[in-house]
Parts: sequence; C-alpha cells; structure tokens
Amino acid sequence: MAGAGALGLIVLGSGSKGNAAVVVNRATGAGVLVDCGISKRQFMDGCAQAGFDPARIEGTLLTHEHTDHTKGFGVVMRGLAKLGCHPPLYASAKVRAASRPLAEIADLCEQRSFTAQDALAIAGVQVHIFPTSHDAVESFGFRFELDGDVVGYMTDTGLVTGAAHEALGGVRILAIEANHDLAMLHEGPYPYALKRRIEGERGHLSNDQGTQEVASLLHPGLERIVCMHISETNNTYGKPVRAMQAMLDQEGCAAQVSAAKQTRALSVV
Ligand SMILES: [Zn+2]
Ligand SMILES: [Zn+2]
Repeated sequence: MAGAGALGLIVLGSGSKGNAAVVVNRATGAGVLVDCGISKRQFMDGCAQAGFDPARIEGTLLTHEHTDHTKGFGVVMRGLAKLGCHPPLYASAKVRAASRPLAEIADLCEQRSFTAQDALAIAGVQVHIFPTSHDAVESFGFRFELDGDVVGYMTDTGLVTGAAHEALGGVRILAIEANHDLAMLHEGPYPYALKRRIEGERGHLSNDQGTQEVASLLHPGLERIVCMHISETNNTYGKPVRAMQAMLDQEGCAAQVSAAKQTRALSVV
C-alpha cells in the first residue's frame, strides 16, 4: 500500500555539495532532521515544497563531521530559533569534537552524544544507530521505526558493514548511497589519490555496490528506494536508477526507485 506508511522521508538535498533530509512522523507532522550541509534558503524552500513545517523538527541526527553534512547547521539552527524551535542535536562525541560548525552552534542548541547500537526516540520515532565505514572520525547510518513502518538511511560508506546490513532489513523506504559509476570515476578528472579514496573501503558506495546491497535486502514490503549522495562529476542521476531498476525487474520486485538531487527536494511517503 504505497503512501500508507506512518513515516515519510524528505531529502532536502543530497550530494557532495550538501546533504540534509527529514524523516517525518506523518500522524503528528513532527520530524527528525538528518545532517544539515545545505543553506538556510534551500532548507526552508525544500520544507515548503514538501509541505513540512520546519518548526516541527524535534531533533537532529548527524551521520559524520564532513562539511557537506554540517556546514548549514549555524544558519539553519538560527532560522529555527526565530521560529521558536530549538531541536537538540545528536552526534557521536568524536564527531562533535571534530566539527567546527557544531562548535559554532554550541550556544544555539543542546548537543547530546550517541554511540552505535544506541536507540533513541525523537519526534515519536524510534531511531536505531549503526556504524558505517567512511574516512571520518566516526560515521553512522540510521534505522527509523514507527508503528511497524521502517525507513533505512545510509550514505557515506565505502562498504556495507554487517551491522548496517542487519539494520536495513525489512525497511519500507530505503535511502542508500549510489555515489559513483566506477567507469566514470576511473575515467574522470579527479586526482588518482582522490579516486582511490572514493572507491576505497572508507569512501563511498558505487552504483553497483548500492544495487548489490538493495538486491540482498529485497522483501515484499520494500516500496521505495532512494539513490543518495550521487556524484555530479562521476555519475548521472539516471545511471543508479537504471541499475537498480534492472535488478528489480530481474527479481520481479515492484519497488519504485528515485534519485535524490543536489538542489531539489524529493518527498517520499
Ligand atoms: Zn558526504
Ligand atoms: Zn563524508
């Protein structure tokens, strides 16, 4: 039953230039912000387009400290404070210590530390935290649960950890990284060391790796797949969608695939 879930996902922006998403409790209209590497304008515009009231954000989760996930916190938290909204921020202690944008908002919002395997409740949504494999001080993905509905969220990882694979089982909406097309990365303009970093075990998932992981997670309740953190240089929006679609057709799975964009909001229910 498409669209009947308790949870929704709004990707406000996704890619190497900035990332932010909101997981929405559709019964109450409250939400959990995941990362904030976009401008206040993109944040506010994306929320408006998706019909989400930004003042309803009840907490923020941070995957890791890279600036494409953190650089918008200051402006966005100041904007939310003007709306009377002061959501606490949840990140690992190491990630908090490593992030300058987080230090700059110390006076603006309460910051709480989490560790992998912690279970949190934000906006009425259960959040399970799992470790990913990335060249940050620490990095994490999230599983969101409400009334039997489940959203899985994983970007910025060079491989799928056992804990991640387990945590992403049985989800209805799956937001998963499909960063690069391997041939485009190899033939593209990046310096050799950066290419090695991206395709390494602490880099980013390729289209093929993302597709393989989705193939191993197929189940009748999987309805929506969102390809995340798509590289503007080493990928196209079409390639990961076509790769996933070909796999789904072969497996006889009716799940719908979309590409999250760098500058345009995508709403999935
Ligand atoms: Zn990133
Ligand atoms: Zn990163």
